[in-house]
Amino acid sequence: MNIDTAHSDQRDDNAVVRCVVADSDRRQRVRLVETKQEPCTIVIFGASGDLTRRKLVPALYRLYAEGGLSDSFLIIGTSRTEMTHNDFRNIMKKAVPLYCNVDRKLWEFFATRLFYTTVEYNNPATFIDLGTFLSSLERDHNLPGNRIYNLAIPPSLYKMTIRMLGESGLSDERRHEQGWPRVVIEKPFGRDLATAIDLNETLREYFHERQIFRIDHYLAKETVQSILMFRFANSIFEPIWNRNYIHDVSIIAAESLGVEHRAGYYEEAGVLRDMFQNHMMQLLSTTAMEPPSLFEAERVRDERVKLFRSLRPFSHDLDSDNVILGQYGGGVIDGTEVPAYRDEHGVSASSLTPTFAMLTVLIDNWRWQGVPFYLTSGKRMARKLTEIVVNFKEVPHSLFRAVLGEHISANRLIMGIQPDERITLTFQTKSPGSNIALRSVTMDFNYLQSYEGPILDAYEKVLLDVIGGDHMLFWRQDGLELTWSYLTPVLDFCETCAERSSRLQIYESGSWGPETARDKISIHSRRI
Ligand code: NDP
Repeated sequence: MNIDTAHSDQRDDNAVVRCVVADSDRRQRVRLVETKQEPCTIVIFGASGDLTRRKLVPALYRLYAEGGLSDSFLIIGTSRTEMTHNDFRNIMKKAVPLYCNVDRKLWEFFATRLFYTTVEYNNPATFIDLGTFLSSLERDHNLPGNRIYNLAIPPSLYKMTIRMLGESGLSDERRHEQGWPRVVIEKPFGRDLATAIDLNETLREYFHERQIFRIDHYLAKETVQSILMFRFANSIFEPIWNRNYIHDVSIIAAESLGVEHRAGYYEEAGVLRDMFQNHMMQLLSTTAMEPPSLFEAERVRDERVKLFRSLRPFSHDLDSDNVILGQYGGGVIDGTEVPAYRDEHGVSASSLTPTFAMLTVLIDNWRWQGVPFYLTSGKRMARKLTEIVVNFKEVPHSLFRAVLGEHISANRLIMGIQPDERITLTFQTKSPGSNIALRSVTMDFNYLQSYEGPILDAYEKVLLDVIGGDHMLFWRQDGLELTWSYLTPVLDFCETCAERSSRLQIYESGSWGPETARDKISIHSRRI
């Protein structure tokens, strides 16, 4: 742990004070995967796509390399594109090293477990063939029939694919006498409340709730999970984690990337569907929920849902102070000129899709009454940054006011999620010397400094939990419905309101968003 000086108007020198991490902590080596998982077959729909090559197969390879997968596993890629097993293996062999280190010997074995077959998402016969293919492979490899159907396909295909899985008997637990079939659905789960309900009804027609895993990979990030430990495994924070001591909370998830090759999806989704309904809401619930009585999936999810129920609804007349919307214009990022959103390939030249939003969220419960939560997310911002900033209240009375003035910088706790995985606490100390002067110093806990070894990637954790049948880090339908319903007035405003064009502020790429939001980000998160 370090103590470093930080920016402060009361700072008068740059001294750095260091504390050393206890040796026992330094030596602590995290065993990433404690237990071997059950043998299983992972069936990836959309195997010719981006998510498969960038996230899913690299995560599965790392799990295998770290000893987290059973020795008996199969990965079956499937989509419409015609490919042989070897084509699929070769594509993955080129793609995976771009995202993780690959050991040649380990890869050789891993590749023997990769297979590919085609499927037409609207053709029942191809699903029957898929079932036959899976059963025969499982027989050859002595696998019990535990199956994960991972839907890495465009959301418009979810319902049809689920129906095909159901109608062909692939979802049926009774047919898998010694195994379990499970289904994993990527975000976004629906595009509004009605479609989320509709998708869930289709799912529940063919799958039991215990078989369904609705992903939010943000929840699986080590640092997000650690927030619950930080809050509920220490006795000193929870007593001050409320309206009596906290002035405001800022949750920011900024990206420097633009829409890249996903313009088709993003034009439909925008920042509210892409980030707020899922990741931002989960970061909010992790920060603000009440302590569950046990660290157990249903109890934790109950508390998240209770928090979502306490959100103060947006009025239909959305105040421009509470909802700031933006879209990136051109600019320069890392010395390179980047185009405006409307000039991106696949984006309409008159698009009104927001790529930035800052929402002021209020929570109507005893703990948080009157404490604003500023939720900000945007593309093409100054840099990639996800963090939660808890701003405490100033001291109630400054006995130093004769020398230092009325205001003393308030304490601030920052929980960094990416790229810096750390927790920092800023507080005031006396500057050395005969004058009375304060300086802000920062206690800084950095995950990577105190643990040796790699950190489990979010997709690895998600896949491990699906194999282990643990729902803790997955959405429950009631939570999804509450968050969709909470955001409906904002979505309606963005899509149908006559004022939407005048309310969409164009911001320069490489900045911290529209000017009105920049002031708030600067005050509440001190990032610019
Ligand atoms: P892609 O657009 O790359 O699509 C995946 C595959 O689906 C394609 O390779 C294609 O395979 C098939 N497909 C695409 N469009 C159609 C169509 N109109 N009809 C039939 N098949 C089609 O998607 P991603 O891999 O980027 O994403 C998959 C899912 O994961 C999506 O739901 C996305 O929202 C979600 N997601 C993606 C993330 C990412 O970083 N990529 C991050 C988080 C979630 P083929 O033509 O061979 O059938």
